[in-house]
Amino acid sequence: MYSRTEVDAIFGELEALTRREASGELFQCPSCEELVDQDAMRCRCGAIFEEPQDIVGYECPLCGSRVAEDATQCRCGARFAG
Ligand SMILES: [Zn+2]
Ligand SMILES: [Zn+2]
Repeated sequence: MYSRTEVDAIFGELEALTRREASGELFQCPSCEELVDQDAMRCRCGAIFEEPQDIVGYECPLCGSRVAEDATQCRCGARFAG
């Protein structure tokens, strides 16, 4: 039989494994080289990770979605006067 401490250790390990899996992909903070969750918006060192905004366009004033420059309507239903 396992002793209480051994069981605790095993459960702790399992928990760590599940937590690591649930957190998803990690990447290295370019500022402090700490591993950060991929969908984290900022690192604990204070570095802010912004979404790459390579799409040409602007933000819908209603919903904040990125809209193509020549779009006349947003997916939220807002219309943009040409
Ligand atoms: Zn950092
Ligand atoms: Zn919108």
